[in-house]
Amino acid sequence: MTPYSRAAILAVGSELLTPSRIDTNSLFITEQLNLLGIEVAFKTVVGDDREELANAVRIALGRVDLLVCSGGLGPTDDDVTREVVAEVLNRALVEDERIASRIRTRFESRGMTMPDINRRQAMVPVGARVLANANGTAPGLWIDDGTRSVILLPGPPRELKPMMMSLVEGPLGERAPGLSLVRRVIRITGRTESHTEEAMRPLYAEWAGRPVPIAATILASLGQIELHLSARAASREGADAALEAASREVSEVIGLDVYSRDGRALEEVLGDLLIARALRIAVAESCTGGLVTSRLTDVPGSSRYVDRAVVTYSNEAKIELLGVPAALIEQHGAVSEPVALAMAEGIRSRAGANVGIGVTGIAGPGGGTAQKPVGMVAIAALVTGTSRSRTFSFIGGREQVKFQASQAALDMVRRMLVV
Ligand code: AMP
Ligand code: MG
Repeated sequence: MTPYSRAAILAVGSELLTPSRIDTNSLFITEQLNLLGIEVAFKTVVGDDREELANAVRIALGRVDLLVCSGGLGPTDDDVTREVVAEVLNRALVEDERIASRIRTRFESRGMTMPDINRRQAMVPVGARVLANANGTAPGLWIDDGTRSVILLPGPPRELKPMMMSLVEGPLGERAPGLSLVRRVIRITGRTESHTEEAMRPLYAEWAGRPVPIAATILASLGQIELHLSARAASREGADAALEAASREVSEVIGLDVYSRDGRALEEVLGDLLIARALRIAVAESCTGGLVTSRLTDVPGSSRYVDRAVVTYSNEAKIELLGVPAALIEQHGAVSEPVALAMAEGIRSRAGANVGIGVTGIAGPGGGTAQKPVGMVAIAALVTGTSRSRTFSFIGGREQVKFQASQAALDMVRRMLVV
């Protein structure tokens, strides 16, 4: 079979043309195609509109030999991808009784009868391959049309992702061109973009001249820097090995500010550290309003190490719920390291946990003073008998200050655990 040379992605859904929804499926599809060395020549977003969709499919098929579409496979009238693609490719749609009965069983297993409209999802263009959907009703479809192929995937990411990954391991992989492109995300916190760039520059130059060259892109936002590395090699293993070596070099240059070399989020990294040391954590938050805890509990299985948390916004709450001495607040102010430490200790001891976090600050835009400006946040962490506290001056709006404070709090504990 001839390998694919160029791919296009078509994201279908009227919601993707509004300001409130973004097409993320194409990013995932691109990543998976790149793993096989298949490059994406262009991508398009169209609404649930027969004519726009038909035109987009025709244009794509005139330019690439692989078209991957996402969305519009649902049972309702506005989902038209299946019908339009069949029409453009001149294929009749026939009902596949096996799909219909699978969908019927899916409904019955939840004590429901299948609505008649779901039979649409059992319609298959003649000659198409049916791609099983473990997480939903709509199967995917793969239609070969001479040297070109069209793949239709369901829109919901939890249905699309596993389907796309099994294609990459199976039939798509069989038609991959020679080179594999692999990416890796390294995450950094605790230094600025320009400091990171400056430290990295000698490496960039050296990487470019290697047998397997490494390309790097830096993506910075307040509180977080991502270094996206990519490598192209004859095999996926070759590209992986080159990236592994490069990411170790990043760690040597950037040190402890690198918190993950495999794209993991800070809260996941911290969770793994807490599990490895069999520690439990408790959190007392003021200006972050629960964000630290929200992030900690975003990680599946976090009940293994998160004990409890409180949001103590007022001074009274800090006194009542955490036992922070009123005199301490009086003396140092609510936004101060002694108060952050007392908050951390208050929640830690009440929980009987090994690790405590205290966060108190001024998220803005109001409430700042000359001595305690907006963005000033005191953070304290206690880890099995040792304590650390620091006062940060964050820039940006309220949401950014809250994010940076949560990042710094999680990172403070991470740093205490890795040494
Ligand atoms: P559909 O297959 O068109 O019924 O899509 C169902 C749902 O999947 C939509 O409501 C979206 O939430 C999600 N979805 C569809 N297309 C995309 C996309 N390109 N990126 C991210 N989510 C999507
Ligand atoms: Mg849709």
